[in-house]
Amino acid sequence: MIAEVRPTAGMRPNILEFSREQLAGIMADLGEPKFRAAQLHRWLYSQEAADFASMSSIGSGVRAKLASSYDIRRPSVVRSESDRQSIDADGDLTTEKYLLRMPDGELVESVLIPSGERLTACVSSQSGCPLQCLFCATGRMGLRRNLHAFEMACQAFALQHEAQRRPGGRLTNIVFMGMGEPLLNLDNVFEAISTMTATDYRFGISEKRITISTVGLVPGIGRIASSGLKTKLAVSLHSADQKQREQLMPVARQYPLEELGKAISGYNRTTGLPVTLVYMLLDGVNDSPEDARKLARYARRFLCKINLIDYNSIVNFEFRPSYDDTRNEFVRQLLDAGLQVTVRKSQGAAINAACGQLATRPEPYGANPQ
Ligand code: SF4
Repeated sequence: MIAEVRPTAGMRPNILEFSREQLAGIMADLGEPKFRAAQLHRWLYSQEAADFASMSSIGSGVRAKLASSYDIRRPSVVRSESDRQSIDADGDLTTEKYLLRMPDGELVESVLIPSGERLTACVSSQSGCPLQCLFCATGRMGLRRNLHAFEMACQAFALQHEAQRRPGGRLTNIVFMGMGEPLLNLDNVFEAISTMTATDYRFGISEKRITISTVGLVPGIGRIASSGLKTKLAVSLHSADQKQREQLMPVARQYPLEELGKAISGYNRTTGLPVTLVYMLLDGVNDSPEDARKLARYARRFLCKINLIDYNSIVNFEFRPSYDDTRNEFVRQLLDAGLQVTVRKSQGAAINAACGQLATRPEPYGANPQ
């Protein structure tokens, strides 16, 4: 039963690739009671044990058997020196982008974003992304692979360690808005959230402080709604006009606005929670008064708030951010329609760590959210 995870050639399987349930199976096969699997999970994810030998609450015989069958291989931060010196114009605390190497060599970016009292870790759920939104550097990479649950949890742990180097630094929020579409890898996202939110673990963040972002994959929204999770949901809308949205985000053909609207209403009903509609303003594309009217009409159907974000210019991409007066007029129309609107100041653009800019290059590296 252990063979579900294929080892990298010549290596023992990485025990971190097994889910909590699979760990229970492994321990059962070794004749160990259920609570041993819980202990093993805790050693792996709360203590972040580097080897089996250090797992002192587990019998030495079992530790030896585990060590003869499995390795523990974690992602590592390989941020380049030049990135370490990058300073964004945000004052003392700066947005920082981290390049992490996964155990199989895959490179993934994560971003640490300070904002007032908050320190948010933006984590990736896939290496690359298959959805090819027109404005997104990650989409241009195509999908390399889904990340394992531990690879997402370990991004958060790594950023927590980095955060602790800052004065009073502790992560307050997690957003699944890095590379990839989380709802295409939802089982692993759920498993990662379960690990990150384990109440008696060192990391132990509240579900309410986690946001899952999606471009609007309807089945996944339904699954999150019925999961019982208290996480927040952000839907990247970027247009309330079906044709325009299809041009910006090809996935909109599969999940049209009407169907997406029903999924959001269902989410509101099931969870009692609002969603955040994320709308990136693109000069001359989706920022006209008519675009604002369409957005207001669409958004009034839901329990939601609207988060307007600036576009971050990306080399070789044709889009530009909206002008200030256009954005102000857009905001005014939404407010006049009675909607709750926030305008998010873009962070991390100077180091290509802002929305849509994450994209790893092979070597020495580049790296990148939704
Ligand atoms: S915006 Fe998100 S869903 Fe679209 S291509 Fe980029 S990473 Fe994928």
